[in-house]
Amino acid sequence: MKIGAVSDHRTREGGAIIYPVYSRRSRGLSVGINLFPDRKLCSFDCPYCEVFPFRTDIVFSVDTMKTALSSCLREAAENGETVKDICFSGNGEPTLSPEFPEALETAKALRDEFSAGAKLVLITNGTGLLDDRTFSVLAAAAKRDSGLHIWLKLDAGTEAWYREIDRSDIPFKRLTGAFTAFAAQGSPFTLQTMICRVNGVLPPPEEEAAWLDLAAALADTSEKAGGGIRSVQIYGKVRPAPEDPLTEPVPRETLDRRAALLNETLECAGIAARAEVF
Ligand code: SF4
Repeated sequence: MKIGAVSDHRTREGGAIIYPVYSRRSRGLSVGINLFPDRKLCSFDCPYCEVFPFRTDIVFSVDTMKTALSSCLREAAENGETVKDICFSGNGEPTLSPEFPEALETAKALRDEFSAGAKLVLITNGTGLLDDRTFSVLAAAAKRDSGLHIWLKLDAGTEAWYREIDRSDIPFKRLTGAFTAFAAQGSPFTLQTMICRVNGVLPPPEEEAAWLDLAAALADTSEKAGGGIRSVQIYGKVRPAPEDPLTEPVPRETLDRRAALLNETLECAGIAARAEVF
């Protein structure tokens, strides 16, 4: 696909609402939906965040999204391109937008019309699960046939590392309590964990142990409720961030080792979920 032809030549930080990219994690063409074309809006302040400061006058609306997304998906179909996924991501936490529920329904309808094989994905830090209405929207959307794939950020196992790597004011226990409640209602989801150095420091051993316990407990709860964790995606820092060099990449072996430790834990506990490195 001529990437850009379908995104009116804007970048995500230049006000694009729809931005097609070739994604390593999607293993093909991913069409991004950005609910915040005018400014970053997030409930986390991750030091590795790749969104550089920007400001535009472009206002998000579901109608504008619908026009741009249908044009993008139609063009992909005409060019014989396979769209692997349609992904809510963009300049912040998608569930913070009051228009997210309507945007989700619209994207699903367009996916069904133009790219029935494409997954519908939400990349989220999970703070939306603290809101009852958003919790219900996500639970219902994830349960449907060919429904929403939720990629839930779990960067830490302890409050201390969470404070370093996600820098949120929301208490860690409160957030992971919502994750557990979500797992317990039986919708499948994916966990995503960034491993990097923060201020020159690697996640300490007690953090690693707590993360292993927490990821395994979430997978266990989810499986027992009939959902299950599709995958635990472990990834490292590969792109520049505005706060570089506050965070730094770790060697690939560090990521592989973490995945192997979790897989050992899951296997010993008879849990089907598996970790993989991206
Ligand atoms: S949750 Fe995502 S958008 Fe928000 S600060 Fe972290 S990396 Fe950036």
